[in-house]
Formats: sequence, structure tokens, C-alpha cells
Amino acid sequence: MSQTETAKPQTDKAAFLQRLRAYVGREAGPPFTARDPVNQPMIRHWCDAIGDTNPVYTDPEFAAGSIHKGIVAPPTMMQAWTMRGLMPPPKEPDTLNQMLGILSQAGFTSVVATNCEQEYVRYLRPGDLLTATTIIEDVSEEKQTGLGAGHFVSIPTTFRAHQKGEIVGKMQFRILLFRPAQVAAEQPAAAGPAKPRRPRPVVNQDNAFFWDGVKQKELLIQRCAGCGKLRHPPRPMCPSCQSLEWTAVKASGRGTVYSFVVIHHPPFPPFDYPHVVALVELAEGTRLVANLIDVDPKTVSIGMPVKVDFVAVDEEMILPQFRPAA
Ligand SMILES: [Zn+2]
Repeated sequence: MSQTETAKPQTDKAAFLQRLRAYVGREAGPPFTARDPVNQPMIRHWCDAIGDTNPVYTDPEFAAGSIHKGIVAPPTMMQAWTMRGLMPPPKEPDTLNQMLGILSQAGFTSVVATNCEQEYVRYLRPGDLLTATTIIEDVSEEKQTGLGAGHFVSIPTTFRAHQKGEIVGKMQFRILLFRPAQVAAEQPAAAGPAKPRRPRPVVNQDNAFFWDGVKQKELLIQRCAGCGKLRHPPRPMCPSCQSLEWTAVKASGRGTVYSFVVIHHPPFPPFDYPHVVALVELAEGTRLVANLIDVDPKTVSIGMPVKVDFVAVDEEMILPQFRPAA
């Protein structure tokens, strides 16, 4: 389907855009009312997570003496109050998802968020119950981007305090639905959907040595040149002495299971289940997250000796995975 779309003349692109733009101006779905009003415990958790120590968010006495005359919520929490959480999705796709379905069927199967701008009208206070309304504001014509050809979809949200319908904030949000160039080239139009491949690691200048090592079937661990401590995953600075200098050591590949989980649900298509993910304590003394393979999940235990193997999980990706060691 994606290839035939690509080959169609410009007039078909115009017709396709017209089909998408029929959704412009409509609500993305029903307004979503927060499950809890603005409240102190959620504010405190947020401040803990962000590291925001401003007492106007958490100390009632201090807040009472401030310009706000009482506790207020950090403005950047606005969207958090109306996030869906892990509620089951609606049985029928909402309006936005109907439109995204049309894009997906035309091969624009990948999504990335490109813009988010928030505007705060007033501080939120404990007791405010928010309702979020999102509209489909705009769908761009097909654009060429670094990720592939795609359409930008603008879906701004307005936040209202439920008591009065008063607008307390707005958020502009834009996503790009794009046709992943690689997949379009690899999959013949007539073939059925192949099993999706595992997510690719994001390789950057800090961790490239690790992935280069994996290709050579070597498990390379970063070692601080300042204090000699090992660290993983790779990062630019030593957490112990703040040195930016480092070398890498080749690990023996032997270790023990420090902790593990066996994942049954939800199933993601690239993986086989049950899926054992272990935190392996390497003999060298640092830990690494990896799959445990060729093992009955019921027999995995903490302290179990394991040994690395370098496994081709698809035609181009090798991962370090562990097996029980004798
Ligand atoms: Zn160090």
C-alpha cells in the first residue's frame, strides 16, 4: 500500500489531504475530565520527582504567607492532571485515531512528537478539577523530513477548571506521522506484514564503543581513568569522581542474576514470551540489563550463574544475552 501511494500522481495526494482535512476543526475525542482534583499528594510526588524544592508547592504555612495565599501546583503539572494513565483504551477509536488510522493505512505508520508549547493562565490550586479538550487544528500537506515523508498534525488542548468552565491553560501539541523510509524500501507491497524488529539502540558518541564491541562479540565496560571505577550503561562523566576521562575493559562475560522479571503482558510483537529480563551482576563488579535465554523462566533465581553470548536477534542486530552457566 505504501509503495502504491508513493507512486500515485500529485492529484491523489491532494485528494488524500482533503480526506484528512475533513477532520480539521473536530474534537479529537470526548473531553477528558481529571480522575482526581488538583491535590497535595500528587503535587508532592511531582516536586520530589522533578527536584523542585519551592515551599509554595508543599508547605501550607509558607504558602499562606506568600503572594499566592495558599498552596498552588507547579504550572508545568498542568497536563499531568488529565493524563489517562493505564485505563483501557476506548473500544471504538476516537475521532483523532480514526484520522490517524487513515494515515497509518497509507503507510504513515510512525509517529514522533515535534512541538509542545504550554501557556498558563493562572496557578492551579488544590480542589481544581480539570477537563481537557483537544481539537484537530491542522493537518499539513505531505512534507519531506529527515525521518521520511509525513504529515504534521496539530492537536492543541485547552484545560478548563470544571467548576466554572474557566480556561486555566492551553497546550499546543504537534506530531509528525511519517512513512519510515527503511521499512518502505524493505517490504514488498504484496508481502504480508513481517514480524516487527526489535527497537534499535540509540547509538551516540558516549556508547558507540559498547555497540562496536558487541559487533566484535566483546562485552566492553567503561572504566573511569580517574578513580578506576566501572560504570554501565555508558555515560560521559564518572558519578564517583566527576572525571570525563575513561577507558574500556573487556568483561569476562560471566556473572550472576542480581534481579530479574519475567514479562508475560502486554505482548509487543518483536518479542517472544515469556520474556526474561535480568539485571546481571558481572564478575568485574558492575551490572547490566539483558535478556536471559534458553532457560525455563520458572527456574530463574537470584544468584544464578550466567554467561554472555552474542545473539543475532534479526538480520542486522546483535545483542549481548545471557544463558545459565554451569
Ligand atoms: Zn571516577
